[in-house]
Amino acid sequence: MATTFYPPQRTLMGPGPSDVSPRVLAALGRPTIGHLDPEFVTLMDEIKGLLQMAFQTDNQLTIPISAPGSAGMEACFVNLLAPGDKAIVCQNGVFGGRMKENVERCGATAIMVEDDWGTPVSVDKVSAAFAAHPDAKVLAFVHAETSTGVESDAAALCKIAADNNALSIMDAVTSLGGIELKVDEWGADAVYSGSQKCLSCVPGISPVTFSPKAVEAIQNRQHKVQSWFLDMQLVMGYWGGDSKRAYHHTAPVNAMYALHESLLMLEEEGLDLAFERHMFHHEALVKGLEAMGLNMLVDQSCRLPQLNLVQIPEGIEDAAVRSALLSQYDLEIGAGLGAFVGKAWRIGLMGQACYQENVLLCLSALDNVLA
Ligand code: PLP
Repeated sequence: MATTFYPPQRTLMGPGPSDVSPRVLAALGRPTIGHLDPEFVTLMDEIKGLLQMAFQTDNQLTIPISAPGSAGMEACFVNLLAPGDKAIVCQNGVFGGRMKENVERCGATAIMVEDDWGTPVSVDKVSAAFAAHPDAKVLAFVHAETSTGVESDAAALCKIAADNNALSIMDAVTSLGGIELKVDEWGADAVYSGSQKCLSCVPGISPVTFSPKAVEAIQNRQHKVQSWFLDMQLVMGYWGGDSKRAYHHTAPVNAMYALHESLLMLEEEGLDLAFERHMFHHEALVKGLEAMGLNMLVDQSCRLPQLNLVQIPEGIEDAAVRSALLSQYDLEIGAGLGAFVGKAWRIGLMGQACYQENVLLCLSALDNVLA
């Protein structure tokens, strides 16, 4: 017979979810109230303000979507593309491929700009793609590729999109709260993230933000958004600016308490200090790994501090090491994906998982398992 589930106490140093602080878990356990309760509406407004702080934006349409990062991704594509449109999609890892799927499911054409896994998106190739396709309506790229641990030059990519009268769609699932992300300064038009990475909240919520230019494009659509749930014009009726909130869907009320608390923690620490903390512990981890004779696979110039791609030494079996770390140390690290299956581990230092204890645990556990 099934009984109450008590999860093991793991340390989450993979590609996400990351460790959730007891403070956020306590918020999650508070009494559920109605999703139109005035107290909840007040909380929604605070969440919107805190998300503006995290995204560094004044965008009015800055809200959490009640579904995981993939839904945030889909929300950006279905609201900004219509059948017959063209979108330039950059792929240098797993998630550019998912973007292509989204473009095609909107009935639009994806012009692919491909770069090797483990390298950033080439700004020159994107410029060349716009020269060949000046009618492209959207440029989509991943800021922080979780599948490889690579950061692309989001500021430059948003600028190319703006210079070509296209809207930029940026995947910031792994970047939000971990590295600099300046939505307004960079002129990004539609940005989505996830709750479970550097925000260290429970999985299942996708913060999104849309620029006034993106909102105008949504309002001027001639073609109905094919997704009812993700149609931003409908979602705005619930999350919108005025005090009249209409039922759209039942928000995951307790998960929103958790998101609110995780954003408060980020605000209390301050964005700059959070970014410095990620870089500091990343550098310590890299030094330790290199001292053990392990190699980092991504060039230092574009390494993400929050996701570290480490080469698996010759003769070492990937799965055996990860499963020993899990069973002996309750430590989760990630497997390689795509071009890096069996060749690399992905060690996450995201949000609450990015502290000295975790770096030391990871280094000593890996050293013992590899010995
Ligand atoms: N984009 C990136 C860069 C991701 O890392 C992920 C998840 O790992 C996603 C999108 C999809 O997010 P979710 O798994 O929350 O749907």
